[in-house]
Amino acid sequence: MPSSVTRQAPHLPSIDSLLRHPACQPLLERYGREALLAALRQLLDELREGLQRGELTPAEVGPEVLAGRVGERLHVQHRSQVRRVFNLTGTVLHTNLGRALLPDAAIEAVQMAARYPLNLEFDLHSGKRGDRDDLIEGLIRELTGAEAVTVVNNNAAAVLLTLNSLGARKEGIISRGELIEIGGAFRIPDIMARAGVKLHEVGTTNRTHARDYEAAIGPRSGLIMRVHASNYSIQGFTTRVDTAALAQIAHQHGLPLLEDLGSGSLLDLTRWGLPAEPTVRQALLDGADIVTFSGDKLLGGPQAGLIVGRKELISKIKKNPLKRALRVDKLTLAALEAVLNLYRNPDRLAEKLPSLRLLTRPQADILAQAERLRPTLANVLGAGWSVSAMPALGMIGSGSQPVARLASAALCLRPLTSKRLRGRSLLKLEAAFRELPIAVLGRIDDDALWLDLRQLDDETAWLAQLEQLPVEGRAG
Ligand SMILES: *Cc1c(COP(=O)(O)O)cnc(C)c1O
Repeated sequence: MPSSVTRQAPHLPSIDSLLRHPACQPLLERYGREALLAALRQLLDELREGLQRGELTPAEVGPEVLAGRVGERLHVQHRSQVRRVFNLTGTVLHTNLGRALLPDAAIEAVQMAARYPLNLEFDLHSGKRGDRDDLIEGLIRELTGAEAVTVVNNNAAAVLLTLNSLGARKEGIISRGELIEIGGAFRIPDIMARAGVKLHEVGTTNRTHARDYEAAIGPRSGLIMRVHASNYSIQGFTTRVDTAALAQIAHQHGLPLLEDLGSGSLLDLTRWGLPAEPTVRQALLDGADIVTFSGDKLLGGPQAGLIVGRKELISKIKKNPLKRALRVDKLTLAALEAVLNLYRNPDRLAEKLPSLRLLTRPQADILAQAERLRPTLANVLGAGWSVSAMPALGMIGSGSQPVARLASAALCLRPLTSKRLRGRSLLKLEAAFRELPIAVLGRIDDDALWLDLRQLDDETAWLAQLEQLPVEGRAG
């Protein structure tokens, strides 16, 4: 009824009085007049409708209450979209969660590079213009045995740039077993096409022989490419030509051999009990002319694509105008140098480099941590859930060793509801973990939510927010 509307509407305070109210002053200070005004208007418009429907009491529209509600809205609207999470998925180098975590030395280097001018392209020795690759070339040569080096934004860019520089308008010979896709948009045939290289596939999916490569070589050949099996493995009746033999074939015909290692490791990881990954040094020793690999996979550094190999080929790559479009920024270079520096002392690497430290955490440690945290979580979740500390299997991630599993441990959360409701309960709990201030990401498997603790360093922060889990029927 119109008459009741006119009686109730004046209960809402005016925008002006709210803007002047002491409860709004901290919001005015923090978010500025425009944002506060817009949020107040929006809230009052919504409340006006509620009032008209007679749904609100005068207490619900008092200035303090309104300031509180507007404050919550502004907080949500203005909080950063780039947010920290707990990666308890069991996948250590998780592409969707930012891959490698940087060591302290790299974080300090990034801060320095962000805060001050630096010698990015300036040779302090000669006082002349420098080249940003020079800042890390010496270190990478020392660590890989390569003659020369250049760095771009990621390994996909490294592959694109190398193919385009060395094989444009010519044929790139590659085994059918290596025509891979690595998540989403990176497919070797597409990258080749974009690089202007004509794909010449040889062999079959499971078996490619030396004679297949030899038969493919002709006047239009520009390069031979080898791609490390990422995200999959070919087992059973298989043959592949190893790098040394392939290099020999390439060089007999005057062609460069390009090897995309994907993860690529600088050191033999078996010394830390991890599965063997081809090292960059070995690929070069075997005769690959150019090797490309990622900065933020097993290397444990910032996102980058490293291109290493023969000097004359690297200079050709560096002269390609695409290099300018794909170059790394100063923050990446600063972080990369600091990470590479740690590799000079392999004995302390596992202690200093977070990705290696996490990958090599012993299962017994992780299980002990799960047992220690179990009672607290069980208490928070209440009677509807069984919480147990369990051995679990994790993964390296980022396509490194796709079939290898890391012996890990997890908190396993099982709903004690009827089978019919279990799926829904799990999804609800998973969502509740995701909505915490620092989202907790686990994985659902076998009717349970698994929180793999391999990467739970900051127990205090993790425990502190558990009370905020909106769990149905929780006691207290
Ligand atoms: C991961 C990967 C790439 C892409 O590397 P990014 O650094 O993610 O761009 C290319 N090739 C192989 C074999 C890979 O494993």
